[in-house]
Amino acid sequence: MRLDRLLGNLPHGNRRDARLALAAGHVRVDGATVRDGRLEVREFNRVELDGQVLQAGKPARYFMLHKPAGVVSATEHPEHRTVLDLLDEPDRHDLHLAGRLDLNTTGLVLITNDGHWSRRLTLPQSEKPKVYLVETEQPIAEEYVETFARGLHFRYEDIVTRPAELQILGSHRARLTLHEGRYHQVKRMFGHFRNKVVRLHRERIGALHLGDLEEGRYRLLTPQEIAAF
Ligand code: URA
Repeated sequence: MRLDRLLGNLPHGNRRDARLALAAGHVRVDGATVRDGRLEVREFNRVELDGQVLQAGKPARYFMLHKPAGVVSATEHPEHRTVLDLLDEPDRHDLHLAGRLDLNTTGLVLITNDGHWSRRLTLPQSEKPKVYLVETEQPIAEEYVETFARGLHFRYEDIVTRPAELQILGSHRARLTLHEGRYHQVKRMFGHFRNKVVRLHRERIGALHLGDLEEGRYRLLTPQEIAAF
């Protein structure tokens, strides 16, 4: 919300008083005097008027988690444990997932309470490469590489998938890099060749790697990692 609106909405506030307080330098956001009422303030900002705290500003939280198989990418579920159940955080019900993995997919999941950040992450223009390790039932043929690079038609959405890079690692193993996140995308791409994915693991999103984070464990993102998104 704009700062002038937040001030104008106070119980005894109005737009004129808000303008005057701003012009007089009586308003501070995150400790700095702000005179421009057009500034967008969020629930994470601390806002003070004449030294009185109008909004304390809650901490923005960003985590990466190594999702095990059998844990659902949702905030609640009637049957399965959810990724939020793996977090030992007091405010975990304030958190949501930035992108999902299927029930049996393992690997990197991002969790936050910052809706702007997670929305930005999934915008097509800022989509980060997602890297998956794939194991299949049938052997993986060389022709997959070109087919995935060209793109596949997904009939349901009527779209052609963006060029994806496939690196064949063994007869039944490959690393696949996607630049978008369609529903069941990896399984559907291999499904084009009637080849079933038997194991799927996301090892990376953009510059974020799971590293040696153990399955079921999580950690806070560093300020550099947050800013990179
Ligand atoms: N593609 C899939 O098919 N499943 C996932 O969990 C992620 C990508």
